[in-house]
Amino acid sequence: VIMMGQAEHSKITTCAYCGVGCSFKAEMKGNEVVRMVPNKDGHANHGHSCVKGRFAWGYATHKDRMLKPMIRAKITDPWREVSWDEAVNYAASEFRRIQAKFGKDSIGGITSSRCTNEETYLVQKLVRAAFGNNNVDTCARVCHSPTGYGLKQTLGESAGTQAFDSVMKADVIMIIGANPASAHPVFASQMKRRLRQGAKLIVIDPRATEMVKSPHVEADYHLKLMPGTNVAVITAMAHVIMSESLFDADFIAARCEEQSFKDWQQFVLRPDNSPEAMAAISGVPAEELRGAARLFAAGGNGAIYYGLGVTEHSQGSTMVMGIANLAMATGNIGREGVGVNPLRGQNNVQGACDMGSFPHELPGYRHISDTTVRTEFEQAWNCTLDPEPGLRIPNMFDAALDGSFMGLYCEGEDIVQSDPNTQHVTAALAAMECIVVQDLFLNETAKYAHVFLPGSSFLEKDGTFTNAERRISRVRKVMPPKAGKSDWEVTVALANALGYPMRYKHPSEIMAEIAALTPTFRGVSYKKIDELGSIQWPCNEEAPGGTPTMHIGEFVRGKGKFINTQFFASAEKVTRKFPLILTTGRILSQYNVGAQTRRTDNNQWHSEDRLEVHPHDAEERGIKQDDWVGIESRAGQTVLRATITDRVQPGVVYTTFHFPESGANVITTNNSDWATNCPEYKVTAVQVMPVTQA
Ligand code: SF4
Repeated sequence: VIMMGQAEHSKITTCAYCGVGCSFKAEMKGNEVVRMVPNKDGHANHGHSCVKGRFAWGYATHKDRMLKPMIRAKITDPWREVSWDEAVNYAASEFRRIQAKFGKDSIGGITSSRCTNEETYLVQKLVRAAFGNNNVDTCARVCHSPTGYGLKQTLGESAGTQAFDSVMKADVIMIIGANPASAHPVFASQMKRRLRQGAKLIVIDPRATEMVKSPHVEADYHLKLMPGTNVAVITAMAHVIMSESLFDADFIAARCEEQSFKDWQQFVLRPDNSPEAMAAISGVPAEELRGAARLFAAGGNGAIYYGLGVTEHSQGSTMVMGIANLAMATGNIGREGVGVNPLRGQNNVQGACDMGSFPHELPGYRHISDTTVRTEFEQAWNCTLDPEPGLRIPNMFDAALDGSFMGLYCEGEDIVQSDPNTQHVTAALAAMECIVVQDLFLNETAKYAHVFLPGSSFLEKDGTFTNAERRISRVRKVMPPKAGKSDWEVTVALANALGYPMRYKHPSEIMAEIAALTPTFRGVSYKKIDELGSIQWPCNEEAPGGTPTMHIGEFVRGKGKFINTQFFASAEKVTRKFPLILTTGRILSQYNVGAQTRRTDNNQWHSEDRLEVHPHDAEERGIKQDDWVGIESRAGQTVLRATITDRVQPGVVYTTFHFPESGANVITTNNSDWATNCPEYKVTAVQVMPVTQA
């Protein structure tokens, strides 16, 4: 707790960083934050917090904040400060001009998981009702879109199954492609408490994270696979469970589709899915695959937690379904202590997806082609909706380069730094005729913008975030918006300037509209959140107090569905020219592209991205500790300093992506998940060589 002076007033609000969604008391003196105190009654954090959340107000008051709307005709022109009215009217007239010239579908919008539910809902409503198309997407496209797809197919709902507290009843914890110690620290502490009580731990990760071995933790199994082979590992584990009759026959008979189980059983028992066959692909010894499978199936309550190391692959959706298969086969779903739990990286990834900021889905994951659902929204919104799905983010870039997508409204997302293959992204942005960026800072994307609309931080607005456990918590305005408008008011102004009236006096009215149109939110209101502290959706007539554990007694889709998970190698192959695989991750003190944490005291603990190289690979290349190294992939090249460590295995290098200078995404490629286009950030073939850095 950092004490800056005597507090005069305080409000309970929610951290705007990771998917844990810690509750804080913001103590204020006038309009200045005095300190941020973790809320002991917070349902997700129980009075704990991490180093990011405690310093979060630093970026809200940083000198780099942009507080004036600005416009320019060309991106080579200097910015011109204008009034809110002039900026919004200019953006609206440019969007209408582009539509008149290139057609209705030539513009679209991108929202961020850092937006509140209400803001995200408004942006997708603006695109659908005022732009007249479905070209709306969210940054969940590049992180957890395979979770949405995979869990919907198998279990029937695009969300994690448990509350965080459920981990305290787990006997075996399996972490796949996630490092909660860095990315979800408060939940990692809870997990460690359970491990100290005797729960067993399996970690599936190419890198020895803090969850594999640290002063408080030692994994029983660390399956150190080659990046890109998750599906081989999960299918081999399923093979062991089925061939050794470790499955839960009663659960499967009562809860799952019989034919899908029979087909899946036949599939996983094929010899080419055996541990020996999959060991050759994944690099994980067959005996370790067997041991981990036996422990998970027979060790009591088995709970699976996974992160972007699962989703950001060309088989991301396949792996999510493989995880759901394993949970169903072992009966580890539908009660406390078990379940399938995506660890959402950002504060409101779950909410951004729930709110319909996808080109194919309206709020509540209902397909835009469903006439009944569409009619309900058309009546409520007083508009006609296009039944055809719109463009996903990567399709927007491709269409821009084709000359058919020319205008973009981008709220709270730095797509230049966060999307893969930066050269492709910047070429697409440069080809567009009007880009409107709404953000706290003049970020990398704003370099290509024609209109800049100042954003508001989490301390300057009311709204809600939904964390990784489907928990809806209030974000409360503790100071007036520094630029004069909260983000939701900017979207409302833009809609009105486009001739589509939006009339809200407060975000609670937006939530009331969301609740009226979304069955899983039917019982949600600000009043109820204030009374209960937070609510886990579904919250409706059947579950007025919310739903901590999903799929009790029956899956949302009725019977659970097994889906075969055939392994395919990534298109990204190692060659003599590119002999190493680069994979990426996060560090505790920084958050995503660092736009926020780099402007707080967090920067003192981690002020640059580094490349981790195994000692063997370093010696082969003459790389010494702290040397500058050039990294080249098929997409591009960048330079980082090296850390030599056996945390990574030979043949694998690793970096974080928190600094624009590191250019991590200059070298990632256009490969993506077959079902959702989620980029394959985790597998890039590279060469690494020492360089001299000026
Ligand atoms: Fe909690 Fe995550 Fe914020 Fe840390 S960054 S305080 S774990 S919500």
